Amino acid sequence: MVPTEHTLRLVGVAASDGIAIGPAFHLRPQRLHVQRREVVDVAGEIVRLGDARRSARAELEALQAYVATTVSVAEAEIFEAHLVFLDDPTLFDDVEAYCRAQRCNVEAALVAIFDGYKAVLLDSDDELFRARADDLEDIKRRLLRTLGGEHDGSALPAEPCVILADDLLPSTAVQLDRSRLLGFGLATGGPTSHVAILARGLGLPAVVGLGDGLAAVPDGATLVLDAGAGMLLVDPPEETLQAYQVRVAVDRERRALERAAARHAARTRDGTTIAVLANLSSLAEAEEAIACGAEGVGLLRTELLFMDRATAPGEDEQLTLYRQIADVLDGRPLVIRTLDIGGDKPVPYLRQPPEQNPALGVRGVRLGRSEPELLRAQVRAIWRIGPGRPVKVMFPMVTSLEEVRWLRSLVAEVGAELRERGTPTLDRLDVGVMVEVPALAMLADHVARLVDFMSIGTNDLTQYALAVDRTNAAVSGIGDALHPAVLRLIAQTVRGARAGGAEISVCGELAGSPLGVPLLVGLGVETLSMSPSLIPAAKMAIRELALTQARAVAEHALSLATADEVRHYLELSARSRS
Ligand code: PEP
Ligand code: MG
Repeated sequence: MVPTEHTLRLVGVAASDGIAIGPAFHLRPQRLHVQRREVVDVAGEIVRLGDARRSARAELEALQAYVATTVSVAEAEIFEAHLVFLDDPTLFDDVEAYCRAQRCNVEAALVAIFDGYKAVLLDSDDELFRARADDLEDIKRRLLRTLGGEHDGSALPAEPCVILADDLLPSTAVQLDRSRLLGFGLATGGPTSHVAILARGLGLPAVVGLGDGLAAVPDGATLVLDAGAGMLLVDPPEETLQAYQVRVAVDRERRALERAAARHAARTRDGTTIAVLANLSSLAEAEEAIACGAEGVGLLRTELLFMDRATAPGEDEQLTLYRQIADVLDGRPLVIRTLDIGGDKPVPYLRQPPEQNPALGVRGVRLGRSEPELLRAQVRAIWRIGPGRPVKVMFPMVTSLEEVRWLRSLVAEVGAELRERGTPTLDRLDVGVMVEVPALAMLADHVARLVDFMSIGTNDLTQYALAVDRTNAAVSGIGDALHPAVLRLIAQTVRGARAGGAEISVCGELAGSPLGVPLLVGLGVETLSMSPSLIPAAKMAIRELALTQARAVAEHALSLATADEVRHYLELSARSRS
């Protein structure tokens, strides 16, 4: 679908997949008109600043709650960065000091100090720091608005449109009326910016980094935003437009079919049933998971409950959440993963010393060994969910057989203590480990004899096998889960699990990706766990597979030498199926 040479075609970076067709609308935030004034009552200005910070906090918390219910809890976390800035004493001490020294209004002090900090962030080599400059701008505007200086120019036309903007603040993006939004094309920004993450959460196509040429696109021009290709076409010829319209209609129809069939089991053409479960981190996502066809939860990440708070959640608070999720699942299996924090996700109440290499440090069950009471309380809360619910416990970042034995006896001891006290418990608690460290993958046969199940975390397995920090954008291109070394570790784990009699599943991102589903099924994995929104497509892909063929494809993929060769080969075999 190549546009003619007369079509204006802007190229950027894909931020959220999909195609949007519709009229252009430039969202132009009103300029900031901050007048600098000399003031006599500086103390009064400081009080105004305090009031504005309190209102901004209330607004942000409301926004966070709104996003948590309308998008997802994970996306709502975006506003945490704003709240952290709002609580930053250095930043606001500087604003106050500026105000006092210059005897000026607090608006002028805010602009001077925030713009100074922003310039430092924008100067950084680290993309993540540069992206935080947006958050700082967002907070500055919010405070100025609260102080009475600025209005948000975010009213949209009645007809649904493709929003074009130089940049878009995440809080502006979520406040736009979704029924009038087809997608976003932004002149600046990167794929890891918060607005890009939000667009993915909202399921809206988005392209970022389209450049200065975007400003020349007239309002009302017909646009095709082909986000997968990172491309924006302006007033394309009729033929191109029609071809895209067909693609959109086919996509929509396919998604509707997938969703309608999602509640049925996923059986391959030759009759093998693959269980498709959901990865969750909150109660809010549980209902959505069932609606998407999840047959249970293969990974409940419990970190969210432990973060952004002053003290650890008590055993009863944990019990309430776990029981509520088990109740929503209504008899479907629930795998609760114990706390996987430490290092790069520090929690204040644990007072962990900073680490040079957090990913290789006191993380996952290693933290549980240094804080055994924290882990015991979590395991107690899980046991106490009570009889009649199929709950299992899973431990992250396990490296050795000694750890597996220690964990098994901890689970048994905690259960026995509760029963001795007459506390109602689960009927049984199967114990599983995540296979995320290559050492454990290579010892899978031994591990399998000690556990009931194993789940391969391909995100961390890739990080550790390929020596790629998964939080470092500069090396993200090397961290490819389709690397044949990772595939061999997966294959070895599956074989080991079988030999040792443990159930095996995969819960990393590979499990829900279009190339990953047939590959993993071909490698012998019969349980996949993924983000709820990916379940309908994954189930459909399984129904289109023949296990015998998938096995042959996986076998050949294992013999290849590079991730590119694997990707190319899997794409070819996917095309030959369709
Ligand atoms: C993984 O590592 O693949 C995994 C599922 O765990 P997380 O992404 O939470 O580290
Ligand atoms: Mg992991």
